Amino acid sequence: MSGFLQPADQPVEGDDADAHRCELEIHDGSIATVGAFQVRRTLPRRVKRTIGQWCFVDHMGPGSVSDDHGLDVAPHPHIGLQTVTWLLDGAILHRDSLGTEQVIRPGQLNLMTAGNGVSHSEETVGVYSGPLHGVQLWVALPTDRRAIDPAFEHHRDLPAFELDHGDATVIIGSLGEVASPASLESEIVGADLRLRSGRDVIPLDPAFEYGIVVIDGPDVAVGDRVLTQGKLGYLGLGRDEFAIDSTGDTRVLLIGGVPCPDPLVMWWNYVAPSRAEIIEAHSDWADGHERYGTVASPLERLVVPGPPWSA
Ligand code: MN
Repeated sequence: MSGFLQPADQPVEGDDADAHRCELEIHDGSIATVGAFQVRRTLPRRVKRTIGQWCFVDHMGPGSVSDDHGLDVAPHPHIGLQTVTWLLDGAILHRDSLGTEQVIRPGQLNLMTAGNGVSHSEETVGVYSGPLHGVQLWVALPTDRRAIDPAFEHHRDLPAFELDHGDATVIIGSLGEVASPASLESEIVGADLRLRSGRDVIPLDPAFEYGIVVIDGPDVAVGDRVLTQGKLGYLGLGRDEFAIDSTGDTRVLLIGGVPCPDPLVMWWNYVAPSRAEIIEAHSDWADGHERYGTVASPLERLVVPGPPWSA
């Protein structure tokens, strides 16, 4: 997907490293617009830019799309990141400059690696009508992998394991003993916890930091901290498990990874170590540079003015 950071999402100095040990640090999300849809954005936050290499979390819907009102994210560029798309309901057609044309449905993973440059669209009009609900996440590529060739993977079946009161589907990386087949470019995990009422204990890696986001259903609690939809719960480093309490049927997105050591600049759809590389990437998009290829979409490619600091 595609979007600008709002003032509440901009960085502030002094990211709080001491918070790594608290029970559950809760951050407010913000509302953004992606295509014709409102989304709840829970990463990046002002004082929490990344969780592992995860740098962007958008929760879209539930809403509905029809033949004249849909999710129509026109062709746009990316560099320096991977996009992870995961649906709870509905369908989206992904088209990219690698020639991919892939419908994604619930329980499936679309993983697009931008590397040095890719462009894509995400469409529903003419493809699907009905409810739509899902998440899209970005993973910053590590410095030594950020200029790799673009790639796309679709995974129809992802592994899951039973919890005491539900199950966990491993979207990418490993959780406990269970590993997703998706290719990894960094040490991360993403999982969908489907919880029923009760307490579940989730296995963690002490070398990872973690975040949780409620993406469907009622609040959850970690210790005495209650997490509602639209907020980010942050679990720091050094845990080998955590206990989560649910009062009903709830879906919780769990993301984690080894803390990102690299400076990241995010602007529009680009992730890079410096503003200079973003200025170049954006000027290449405006010029129709071959690094982004072309997308066979009926939608007109998105063009926006350059960053405010590029003049
Ligand atoms: Mn996108």
